[in-house]
Amino acid sequence: MIPKKIIVIGAGPGGLTSAMLLASKGYEVDVFEKQGFVGGRTSGFTLDEFTFDLGPTFLSMPYILEEIFELAGRKLEDYIELREIDPMYELIFSDLSFFPTRNQVEMKEQIEQLFPGNGEGISVL
Ligand SMILES: Cc1cc2nc3c(=O)[nH]c(=O)nc-3n(C[C@H](O)[C@H](O)[C@H](O)COP(=O)(O)OP(=O)(O)OC[C@H]3O[C@@H](n4cnc5c(N)ncnc54)[C@H](O)[C@@H]3O)c2cc1C
Repeated sequence: MIPKKIIVIGAGPGGLTSAMLLASKGYEVDVFEKQGFVGGRTSGFTLDEFTFDLGPTFLSMPYILEEIFELAGRKLEDYIELREIDPMYELIFSDLSFFPTRNQVEMKEQIEQLFPGNGEGISVL
């Protein structure tokens, strides 16, 4: 049987994910990207010695990526090495600095300390 040909326009995460899943199902997929690089808004650029992200700087839900790779019969760890960032980032509210973390106990304590009375809104699993 001749495989169905599919054209995907755009090599952002949406296009790449669609292409990857379709290719894993046996379709012949061509991806067309107008830029000279892939990644869409999740790509970046360098200026002099500085590197800038165009969009997200880190993956906050890596399990979604793991699921997509699994659906395509691949393993995420064969392609990228994930490194935990802790704290994840800094939020500055005038004179307050807040450092979100995956450590739920620490997160709750931090919120209670910085925003008294709001810690109880965080449930620790
Ligand atoms: C500052 C910022 C922070 C963000 N933070 C997060 C975050 O923390 N978590 C999160 O989940 N998301 C975040 N996002 C959103 C995330 O980047 C987008 O949801 C995601 O990139 C969308 O993917 P996409 O493939 O649909 O589109 P895009 O990433 O926009 O990719 C579209 C691609 O299609 C190409 N294209 C367009 N038209 C054509 C054409 N006619 N021919 C060929 N190629 C074409 C473009 O060049 C581009 O490469 C953030 C975005 C920004 C800007």
